[in-house]
Amino acid sequence: MRAPARVGDDTAHDTAVDAVDLRSDTLTRPTPAMRQAMAEAEVGDDVYGEDPTLVALEERVAELLGHEAGLFFPSGSMANMVGVRLLVPPGTELLADVTSHVLRAELGGHAALGGVSSRTWSDGVVDGTNRARRLDAAVPLALMAPDAGPYLVSTAAVAVENTHNFGGGTVQPLTELELLRAGTAEAGVAVHLDGARLWNAHVAAGVPLATYGRLADTVSVCLSKGLGAPVGSVLVASRERIAQARVLRKRYGGGMRQAGVLAAACLHALDHHVGRLAEDHARARRIAEACHAAAPGSVDPRDVETNIVVLATGDRPGAEVAALAAGKGVRVSSLGPRMVRVVTHLDVDDADVDRACEVLAAVLTG
Ligand SMILES: *Cc1c(COP(=O)(O)O)cnc(C)c1O
Repeated sequence: MRAPARVGDDTAHDTAVDAVDLRSDTLTRPTPAMRQAMAEAEVGDDVYGEDPTLVALEERVAELLGHEAGLFFPSGSMANMVGVRLLVPPGTELLADVTSHVLRAELGGHAALGGVSSRTWSDGVVDGTNRARRLDAAVPLALMAPDAGPYLVSTAAVAVENTHNFGGGTVQPLTELELLRAGTAEAGVAVHLDGARLWNAHVAAGVPLATYGRLADTVSVCLSKGLGAPVGSVLVASRERIAQARVLRKRYGGGMRQAGVLAAACLHALDHHVGRLAEDHARARRIAEACHAAAPGSVDPRDVETNIVVLATGDRPGAEVAALAAGKGVRVSSLGPRMVRVVTHLDVDDADVDRACEVLAAVLTG
């Protein structure tokens, strides 16, 4: 476990924080080198378009994802809300998986602020474990009603999540994404990609980021999760759409000022923290194997492709299992009545994983 660090203070550590914290990859703290990059960032007022570090980040992420332009956001939820709103006029609908972050974890923002109507489909079996939620393109394609006339709601866009958070960090199959792109394009329906963890999909599957990026009209990515930046998401799209996004972001209260200090952290993360996600994936797999060995029904290690492990807790409530593990110094999150989520990240090392394997195996069999 990495101690919290401050610039110029290599010895700083917080003895109160000695639990292994696997609740989320949003818990990462900026490294000393990242803080140094933030301290040295060149900045300006971004509402005037004058923050050079922010502009550099937006251009870099757009290029990585094969899009014309990018826009920085203070959260992934806001990036998703603006991205979807660009594609879905008020009163028309977005289709998404029933456990998607856009519909389940953004507090109804798409409806409340954007006037977006929605319908859901279900990837895989909703059995309380939600394992392996892989896209089957035929399902949303069959659900689409692009030109429903004056009686039913018309479909404007489909949202896909890659990796799929509540599905256990699943990487969406490229062939299904291609089928979805072809089928929606033919019907005049747009695609939004919630790529909060697209970096993990890219590293796990070896698929270039731009290959994923080009299969959607708008793409959001988070720099504040496994990549370890303290704040920040980027939305990419066409130049024209990003110009509209800039207006919407300001209207939603998200105009940025000297945010180059944040962008510097994101650029540092892109330089240093993408390839290492493979370590997080190997550690998550190790946790899954230990849990499977102790309680075979809890997880199939083959479903664990990235940094998220969803464990079925059998007859015991997820909250009870999470509390027992916390009592033994390993924090995980209770995600549903009978499941917990375990997430590896930048601040978790091999010794932490050894401890997590031991505690979770004991708790699952106890
Ligand atoms: C974390 C996350 C987001 C964005 O979350 P914020 O907390 O708003 O930054 C979006 N989509 C998915 C799949 C996520 O896991």
